[in-house]
Amino acid sequence: MKLVVQVKLLPTPEQAAALEATLRAANDAATWVSQLAHDRRVFRNYDLRKHVYGQVKDRYGLAAQAAQHVIKKVADAYTTLHAHVRNGHLGRPGSARRERVLARPIVFRPGAAQPFDDRCLSWQLNARTVSIWTTGGRMKGVAFTASPDQLTLLAAHRKGESDLVCRDGRWFLIATCDLPDVPVRAPDGFVGVDLGIANIATTATATATATATGTGTGDGVRHSGKTLNAVRHRHRELRRRLQAKQTKSARRLLKKRRRKEARFAADTNHTIARRIVTEAARTGRGIALEDLQGIRDRVRLRKPQRVTLHSWSFHQLGHFIAYKAARAGVALVWVDPAYTSQACSACGHVAKNNRPDQETFACTSCGFAEHADVNAARNIAARGETGWAVSHAA
Ligand SMILES: [Zn+2]
Repeated sequence: MKLVVQVKLLPTPEQAAALEATLRAANDAATWVSQLAHDRRVFRNYDLRKHVYGQVKDRYGLAAQAAQHVIKKVADAYTTLHAHVRNGHLGRPGSARRERVLARPIVFRPGAAQPFDDRCLSWQLNARTVSIWTTGGRMKGVAFTASPDQLTLLAAHRKGESDLVCRDGRWFLIATCDLPDVPVRAPDGFVGVDLGIANIATTATATATATATGTGTGDGVRHSGKTLNAVRHRHRELRRRLQAKQTKSARRLLKKRRRKEARFAADTNHTIARRIVTEAARTGRGIALEDLQGIRDRVRLRKPQRVTLHSWSFHQLGHFIAYKAARAGVALVWVDPAYTSQACSACGHVAKNNRPDQETFACTSCGFAEHADVNAARNIAARGETGWAVSHAA
């Protein structure tokens, strides 16, 4: 499995200036190549290289490898764009959006990611420094920060190119690690994960265990979205005020805020995913997750204005859980989320009024009562068990 490790660089002011000049040169070159590709309708890496290689090197002061990466980056960007067009992501043929996008060449921001291969970038993991090619020559001893876990991953599994990127004046290297697949253990039962807004994730097994207290047992545990929702609310207010201003600095601040919020959401999701997977691994259970397409549809019905944000966040959490589970050899099953919130996890009775309010589940048939999210998580766990049994019947 492929895994991405992002480390933060801590360049001195001189090093930062050299990195900035290098990244700017690479992206200015990419924008120039992109213009030419667009004008002459030449999009393939090999063909483009024939047209522009010499000039990219001379005009922008790039070394041979850097020049090749620039050209490939442009070719890849057009391949992605054309795939989006083919798949109808930019609207139908002739639609205003599609025409607008296709009329202009792709432009690369000065801080956009640029790949560096092992000839242009080397890692000194013990010293926590990298040596990197710049337009001003090879630069040694650029410090970076990484967690012990990240260092272990980099030492054992880093492979191929790393991307240098600048965001809000902060420098990062994004390395790809290629990990061997961990065999999936046969699960002893499943824990279901219900995703929501008030509670980002609620976990429960199919049937309540006798010792379930709501903590530590992995049963009926709710991961509150309180902090995250408060941050989002605060940012929404700020956004409203900034949007009204319409100045350049307001727009910049807005962008910064949006990234900060996204980082906070990602941190929250990472923490929740880690807890869920660690607990499943400890108890030998598999994990049942709602199929993400279903989540998007369900949220769309409920709160249209929050769809993008939350569906994006749900996708991210699902993705984090899935890859952490794969790393830990924990079984994972995607289940159909239909009626998981309305069905009774004790008797199976499905009714809308089983759910008198957002938090409460009370079965109108058998009288079973439980927190609504825990009841939903039990249903998801049960579907996970069924799904696993069906796909492993042989
Ligand atoms: Zn019931």
